[in-house]
Amino acid sequence: MFLIERSLSGGRPIEFRRERLTGLSCTISPTRLSRGLNHPPMPAAPADDCPFCPGRLERETPTFPHGSRIRRGESVTFPNLYPFAPCHTVTVITRAHAVVRFRPLELADALQGAAASLVGAQGYASINWNFRHSAGASLDHPHLQGLVMGRASFVHARYLAGSARFLSRTGRLYREALLEHERSTDRFLFGDEVPFVASAVPIGEREVRAFLPAGSLEEAVPYFESLATGLCRVLDLYQDLGSHAFNITCYFGRSGRDRGFSAFCSVISRINPNENSISDSAFMERLHLHPIVMTLPEELGRYGRDAH
Ligand SMILES: [Zn+2]
Repeated sequence: MFLIERSLSGGRPIEFRRERLTGLSCTISPTRLSRGLNHPPMPAAPADDCPFCPGRLERETPTFPHGSRIRRGESVTFPNLYPFAPCHTVTVITRAHAVVRFRPLELADALQGAAASLVGAQGYASINWNFRHSAGASLDHPHLQGLVMGRASFVHARYLAGSARFLSRTGRLYREALLEHERSTDRFLFGDEVPFVASAVPIGEREVRAFLPAGSLEEAVPYFESLATGLCRVLDLYQDLGSHAFNITCYFGRSGRDRGFSAFCSVISRINPNENSISDSAFMERLHLHPIVMTLPEELGRYGRDAH
């Protein structure tokens, strides 16, 4: 499933890894962790300038054409004022402005609200989350972004095409073959209905993937409680490891069209918000699309399985 080449550079270990399904690759250099760049996070910006806090949200965010917003539990979903896809929505997850630990139920509600805003739109759906400025969020108040794009993004397209090829070549879903392989490795974390695994070829720091037993967004919704429960465990694990910023993307197939593809959700930790504006995205991540990662997935899997 994966090509893993271990070598030494100046006596220090590095690993080149490639995922055979997609050709995506990365290099893991655990030595780079010892640079100690991840300082304690800066606090969230104050709530007094936040359009997503209760009160201002109702006055300052747009509504859908029928004049309303979608509410599920605490969450509120509305169109994005600054869209970059034909269908692009925002889901404010909590009434609270600054959240340290998320609860499964509030996250499941938000995922369901986001899904409700996307169902029926034609194209490639995803539900995404940038948490904290250092992960690309423009506002600290926790919010998801739902997207349906007319054409699939690079990573989304790789998995759609690879999964279809895998099905026609082997007669099996890639998800089944992958989980059969990963269950016996150090990378497997937890989960039965929705298994969580430290990604063997991480495309970001401490990447964990959740594999849904469904293809399209519509089929995936019944599993959002399991997904949210596991995501909260992963976010707690990140906190234990000192990571307070992250990105999440859940990729979905099109209803009845993307054979072989199973929806999955990818979580990566990001450098904490910091005074120096140090970033963990540099030329390798952005221009080579080849992430340089510090944490071995097997170590993350062992730690996460035992500690949680
Ligand atoms: Zn707020």
